[in-house]
Amino acid sequence: RPRDAAPAGEAALELPIAQAGALRGKANLGRLRRIGIETVGDALQHWPRRHKDFTRTVPIAALRVGEEQTLRATIERAREVRWGRKGTEATVSDGTGARMRVIWFNQTYLARELRPGMEIALSGKVTAYRGRPTLANPDFEPLDGERRHTGRLVPVYPSTEGLAQKTLRTAIARVLDRFGDRLPETLPEDLRARHGLPGAAAAARQMHYPDDEERLALARRRLAFDELLAVQLGAVRRKRERQSRGATPFAGREAAEAFLGALPFALTGAQRRALGEVFADLAQPRPMARLLQGDVGSGKTVVALAAMLAAVAGGCQAALMAPTEVLAEQHYRTLCALLSGEPEPPLRGMVNLPFLPEPLRVVLLTGSARAKERRDALDAIRHGGAQIAVGTHALIQRGVGFRRLGLAVVDEQHRFGVDQREAIRGAPDQQYGDGGGETGPHLLVMTATPIPRSLALTIYGDLDLSTIGELPPGRAPTETVAIPQPPWEDAEAMREYAERRAAAFARVRAEVAAGRQAFVICPLVEGSRNVAARAATEEYERLCREEFPDLAGRIELLHGRMSGRDKDAAMRRFAAGETAILVSTAVVEVGIDVPNATAMVIEGANRFGLAQLHQFRGRVGRGERPSICFLLGDDPRPPEPPAEDEAEDDRREREQREQQRAQRREAAEERLSLVARNHDGFGLAQADLELRDAGDLFGTRQAGESSLRVASLRDVRLIETARREAEALLDADP
Ligand code: ADP
Ligand code: MG
Repeated sequence: RPRDAAPAGEAALELPIAQAGALRGKANLGRLRRIGIETVGDALQHWPRRHKDFTRTVPIAALRVGEEQTLRATIERAREVRWGRKGTEATVSDGTGARMRVIWFNQTYLARELRPGMEIALSGKVTAYRGRPTLANPDFEPLDGERRHTGRLVPVYPSTEGLAQKTLRTAIARVLDRFGDRLPETLPEDLRARHGLPGAAAAARQMHYPDDEERLALARRRLAFDELLAVQLGAVRRKRERQSRGATPFAGREAAEAFLGALPFALTGAQRRALGEVFADLAQPRPMARLLQGDVGSGKTVVALAAMLAAVAGGCQAALMAPTEVLAEQHYRTLCALLSGEPEPPLRGMVNLPFLPEPLRVVLLTGSARAKERRDALDAIRHGGAQIAVGTHALIQRGVGFRRLGLAVVDEQHRFGVDQREAIRGAPDQQYGDGGGETGPHLLVMTATPIPRSLALTIYGDLDLSTIGELPPGRAPTETVAIPQPPWEDAEAMREYAERRAAAFARVRAEVAAGRQAFVICPLVEGSRNVAARAATEEYERLCREEFPDLAGRIELLHGRMSGRDKDAAMRRFAAGETAILVSTAVVEVGIDVPNATAMVIEGANRFGLAQLHQFRGRVGRGERPSICFLLGDDPRPPEPPAEDEAEDDRREREQREQQRAQRREAAEERLSLVARNHDGFGLAQADLELRDAGDLFGTRQAGESSLRVASLRDVRLIETARREAEALLDADP
């Protein structure tokens, strides 16, 4: 393609990559597509995962084994060889007369490409072969022309099967040369100056081929800022847009206080503070949008109910939405119990409360409600006969209309998408508040996964944050026992590990014998050869057959591949005490409350995040009895045996893999003992964020966070800067 075929200016970024003269061949283009590169712009913004530092060249005599280094050398000879595998072996020499061996596996064509006398630069990790330094599969390039692959900070890109780094590098370098300065500047000059951020095009260039580490860091900062600013602009705008709507202010605090005064317990200081923040919002004529975070069992429900009563006393309705039917039912029962003081829900959910002028009616609306019940609930919601509606997604389906919804509460927020969270605030055809102008209900969302501030600002940037950082008094933390797997080779330790595992299950047996219940949590649904985890299905069968044959009828299986109905039924039987042991995957995470469950065994605990383990653990220890949680580490594959005719290089690779396994095992042990020692969900969430991706932290990818490719959620200061700048930009120009 002739050069002038590309559109002018910024429009060139939309040019299909096939027309950019970057690389030839259908197969390679297909591979580019697979890694998300369809246009010139995509290629320019395909950021390296890391860089290899090949800035200094070293003579052969000075090469150090185990380090990535670069040398300039002359090819003496190159030939195709077979050592079980095919490949190319070359001998190279440097100016000092020293020689060394270089090998490439598989790439036999190199034997023809590398001609004696050719000068090349080689970069790679130096290994030892028969006591002498060797390079295996190094990057290389001829010493004439521009150096892309060696002798500098070299980008390493996320790639895909069959697409060599060298090919990808060349393609991106070509696009960068030709179109790099077409990247538009997106930030105002003064903003960039304020934070010392380089220009967009310069930053992109330095991201790919940095002059030095310092400029690379600056480029990363600029690009991270761009991403964070985009997220913050969205969040701040959503927040302001919502606040520009009206809402009915509630002064119904007396009713809430009267309700709280009648409870058998007093609120904790943290609950009081959170409630104070909620009430302050409710008294405003614009809608509250608040995230209430508090560890499992910290008592968020009571706070939400107090706020709902304020809305009811103010003449409005309130809704509480939960992610599953079981949770919705549980909330319905809890709300009725807290309001009436009776364990069973009253007839038709009607409660007489001295501090309300009329009887209060609570209705439950879920997908599995019978037609008549459903019609009854819908009518009551529509005509205001029900002041409080509890339900699942069913609450936000078509045909559900509130007479006057004043407060919407969403529990276990992270299980809903942003869209669903917003949906409960109402479709346009619904009427809210006073009907004067556009109004919306107040919104309170709750989560039991404590969120570090940087994450809250990013994922829930359009919400204000209240934290209940304290548990009600008198609750003993669940005793947690970490049982990591020792190395397979250590027979003695393995015996002890087996005994400790057996003891854990013996404890489960004892709890069940005493009439209590237990959870067994597994990391995967079905056995997979790749991720060899103990699967829930296999574990279920093992428990039924080997561990607890006498209890077989009272063990149940619960996992995400089951239908919603079956899952609900299984949870319900467990909640009702019919099931003694529930074998489950991570689906059990959501706030199910079974006070009679006192023991939990988590298989493959090393495969879960810290925050998630803490969530699981919160499923026990909810009653009077002391509870226990066992964290069983696993490493289901024994070490690989060496092949019989193992070549030197293969041995080295295998040993390296073994070493990595050992390191992983030690890290896992550390993490498990952290959870065992630490009962503060907030601290664990913070530690988790430092160890892993935020996406893992929640088990789901949330809006706002998935768009972060360069930015790190650990960079609290940059996030806060982006927040401030987003606010300033929108102040200046909404
Ligand atoms: P979560 O925050 O996990 O949703 P819940 O609202 O389910 O927690 O509360 C857990 C339990 O603690 C419930 O049985 C609730 O009645 C009880 N509870 C809540 N607040 C207090 C308190 N201040 N003192 C004693 N018990 C409380
Ligand atoms: Mg809860």
